[in-house]
Amino acid sequence: MMTQVKTATEILAMRESGAMLAAILKKLESVVEPGISTKDLAVVADRELKLLGGRAPFLGYQGFPDVICISLNDEVVHGIPKPDRIIGEGDLVSLDFGVNYRGMITDSAVTLIAGSPKSKQQADLVKFTRASLYEGIAVVHDGVRTGDIGAAVQAVLEKHNYGIVTDLVGHGVGHNLHEDPNIPNYGRKNTGPWLKAGMTIAIEPMATLGSPRVVMEHDHWTIRSFDHSLSAHFEHTVLITESGSEILTEMPV
Ligand code: MG
Ligand code: MG
Repeated sequence: MMTQVKTATEILAMRESGAMLAAILKKLESVVEPGISTKDLAVVADRELKLLGGRAPFLGYQGFPDVICISLNDEVVHGIPKPDRIIGEGDLVSLDFGVNYRGMITDSAVTLIAGSPKSKQQADLVKFTRASLYEGIAVVHDGVRTGDIGAAVQAVLEKHNYGIVTDLVGHGVGHNLHEDPNIPNYGRKNTGPWLKAGMTIAIEPMATLGSPRVVMEHDHWTIRSFDHSLSAHFEHTVLITESGSEILTEMPV
């Protein structure tokens, strides 16, 4: 289904949904530390979401077994929380979470380092993958094309010689977790589908320190870099507006 122009009521629900998501990711960031398991983090996410009155769209999505995806180090996305998966000092931790509130879904991800970074390269990967997300958001406006967004993200990631994961892409979001069109993290300006004010999209760059190629692990969910290089992932749900955009999954200031 192509993502629709949302009604005022739907946008209000998505703002609430996104605010819940932002608050829970902030909470999780404060809890991440060496020694905690990825399942411990999922339990916190589940508890906090229930307290706020939201539902977890990831749980049961195509059979996914938990409320949140947690991917470490060379894992790019879709890691399943496990009680015996203990986060170590200097591990890269990607938290990808979704919220459904009053039927409206938002989707956001953040990558952070548990404890102290292992290298400047690792810290830079986090910094510049995040920067590529904001460069992508910066070009969003009524009438933007998906290739405009992809080109902006790609420019930042290529400048740093990162592997750009092309097998996975951003997407429309709102009534469903994944709606058309795809929002690739690469592309050419003035190409791809046009997007209109009132549509909501998830922009989500994924980058590695090595190969852009990814493979599926034996659990049939976790996707990691082919060459085991470190990977980072950032994502926001964004409302396209007449004048630009509004990030729905950021903490209100
Ligand atoms: Mg996501
Ligand atoms: Mg997404």
